[in-house]
Amino acid sequence: MGRQVSTEIVKTPLIWYKKASPLTAISLLSRTGLNQSNKHIMHSKKRILVTGGAGFLGSHLCGRLVAQGHDVICVDNFFTGSKENIAGLSDKNNFELMRHDVTFPLYVEVDEIYNLACPASPIHYQHDPVQTTKTSVHGAINMLGLAKRTGAKIFQASTSEVYGDPQVHPQTEDYWGHVNPIGQRSCYDEGKRCAETLFFDYHRQHQLRIKVARIFNTYGPNMHPNDGRVVSNFIMQALRNEPITIFGDGSQTRSFCYVDDLIDGIVMLMDTDDEVTGPINLGNPHEFTIRELAEKVIELTQSSSSLVLHPLPSDDPVQRQPNIGYAKSKLHWEPKIQLEEGLYKAIQYFKKML
Ligand code: NAD
Ligand code: UDP
Repeated sequence: MGRQVSTEIVKTPLIWYKKASPLTAISLLSRTGLNQSNKHIMHSKKRILVTGGAGFLGSHLCGRLVAQGHDVICVDNFFTGSKENIAGLSDKNNFELMRHDVTFPLYVEVDEIYNLACPASPIHYQHDPVQTTKTSVHGAINMLGLAKRTGAKIFQASTSEVYGDPQVHPQTEDYWGHVNPIGQRSCYDEGKRCAETLFFDYHRQHQLRIKVARIFNTYGPNMHPNDGRVVSNFIMQALRNEPITIFGDGSQTRSFCYVDDLIDGIVMLMDTDDEVTGPINLGNPHEFTIRELAEKVIELTQSSSSLVLHPLPSDDPVQRQPNIGYAKSKLHWEPKIQLEEGLYKAIQYFKKML
């Protein structure tokens, strides 16, 4: 019997993706007589689902997990993501791409789920707001159901938008936020808030292992050049020597995190002990006005662009800055790449998009 189990584990790693907890898996391995280094390989190689994997953050996360040797399934409906973002992974035999909309149930066998599917740029999430709410809420229900059936650990890409237009500054995780429930941003903000509720209810009710990160503005390569977010807009405008479109008077603030730092934080959070559920802020705490960002981009691109003022979109938060004390203490994580260095890397990427 012991030998049969051993053979099946080696030949059919799928057994790992059934309900077996890591502890069960270890005890199965110890019965197989596999040596220590094999144990390490089998224990550390996981089958991982990344939803929204062809998007900006998802593509970097897939790249990181594939490089670590995991079997990665990337699920995306290509609403804002693209095959180009993951083109470099398509020939890897531990990477699989699946076109699928997370508002519909998904049946795969996995150990971990990173739920990132959702448009993140205001112009895109406001394009079809009902679908945006469905993606956050139905998507969360479907992925949590999948996690419940498979016993997988599940990460949720939540957002600083759950704080709305914050009245507490910088934002700490215990702040409940100041959110308009019926405005143009609500489909995203309230969808993400409801997804957090679902994650914590599945955790309390069904003992799911959850990891919820509140991600603050992140930028870098693989952002869509016409994505509409401020960093990609400003860089593309500066590289074309076109006017830089500042919404409002540019005194509103954001704190910008370079993508590599963020991916470090996400992966570190997933690797924490089960009692660490979040929510946990992930972002760069250095705060800049939007005008300062525009001036920095012009300087780094040596652009002749001028600044033009456009009306401020409704409910646009006045200030945003993460308090990352909790991430520092729990994950021993903090961003390493500051704005100038990160912008420089992003500019090199966007130059190729011209
Ligand atoms: P993105 O738009 O580049 O990526 C989102 C991906 O999800 C895209 O590939 C898109 O096609 C896919 N998607 C959308 N709806 C889907 C659906 N119904 N089914 C399957 N796939 C779907 O955005 P991003 O910046 O990579 O953001 C990824 C996640 O991180 C999002 O959940 C977003 O809310 C969150 N987030 C991002 C930031 C940021 O600054 N980048 C900040 C806070 C939170
Ligand atoms: N913004 C801007 N010009 C642009 C795009 C955005 O001034 O071309 C502003 C926007 O009004 C907001 C900030 O930049 O105050 C960040 O916008 P983004 O859409 O990147 O993210 P979010 O508002 O979701 O933080």
